[in-house]
Amino acid sequence: DTELKRQLVHRHIRPFPDFPKKGIMFRDICPILKEPAALAAVIDLFEEHARKNYEKVELIVGLDARGFLFGPLLAQRLGIGFVLIRKKGKLPGATVSVVYDLEYGTAEMEIQEDGVAPGQKVLLIDDLLATGGTLLAACELMRKQQAEVLGCMVIIELKELNGIEKLKPLSVYSLLEY
Ligand code: 5GP
Repeated sequence: DTELKRQLVHRHIRPFPDFPKKGIMFRDICPILKEPAALAAVIDLFEEHARKNYEKVELIVGLDARGFLFGPLLAQRLGIGFVLIRKKGKLPGATVSVVYDLEYGTAEMEIQEDGVAPGQKVLLIDDLLATGGTLLAACELMRKQQAEVLGCMVIIELKELNGIEKLKPLSVYSLLEY
């Protein structure tokens, strides 16, 4: 059943060569959203993993932008809340931010100051793990907020970039590896 769900998800990921630039194979998750059964399979698999391994989770924290597509659905299933980490300048009110490195230059992400309470147990969610820089920055943000990150969940892990290593000792659960 789990394997069938994985296969269903896999069939709804579309590879695009040379996007956003030459030499990059972009994995497009949009087809998942167009097919209710595939989207349900993603959330089923995330839910199953969270219930089994993160029984105490209190909040799902999603990463800009595709973490927003799956995080709230998972949070609803688990009966808990969802909070956004956004790229700089998008959130109103007091925010906490972190600067992180990109291939060229830096970027900044932030969360509303009252988004996560000290000691709260959270799960981070995004669509894809590549170098791990994005999730690592999100972890840093959670540290600043004194939240406890139980783990991370993504649909796809790009194995060769070894993001898993960067995030250790934190565990990252992925539905598919490429
Ligand atoms: P990292 O920081 O791990 O190198 O990159 C992960 C971030 O970049 C995620 O937020 C993810 O949405 C985005 N990303 C990088 N490559 C891809 C890709 O091939 N497909 C999708 N859907 N997202 C990607």
